Amino acid sequence: MAKVLIVDDAEFLRVRLTKMLNTDGYEVFQAENGLKAVAAYKELHPDVVLMDVTMPEMDGLTALREIVGFDPKARVVMLTALGQESVVLEAVKSGARDFVVKPFEHERVMKAITKLLS
Ligand SMILES: [Mg+2]
Repeated sequence: MAKVLIVDDAEFLRVRLTKMLNTDGYEVFQAENGLKAVAAYKELHPDVVLMDVTMPEMDGLTALREIVGFDPKARVVMLTALGQESVVLEAVKSGARDFVVKPFEHERVMKAITKLLS
């Protein structure tokens, strides 16, 4: 069973994504900020990370860089908002594999994950 780490400071979003992914048979872990995400990544070695951008403690770009620095093969998908095009560019340069714009469709998230796992 593939492991997915969901990183977002919005609880409702973590809950929604967790339900979505559990239904599709993934093992899901959650982190509420970048700092916890980096720690969770090192401990759990998830197959895919879904990473929010704007979070307290440590933002998603910084966490992305730390995770990729730790594991260059890390598969991180950024969860971005409309108008964050410059963040997307930075994230891709920093090793993000894909991005999904919020509010997202179930299908779009699943497509991003299955593509990375194939
Ligand atoms: Mg946020």
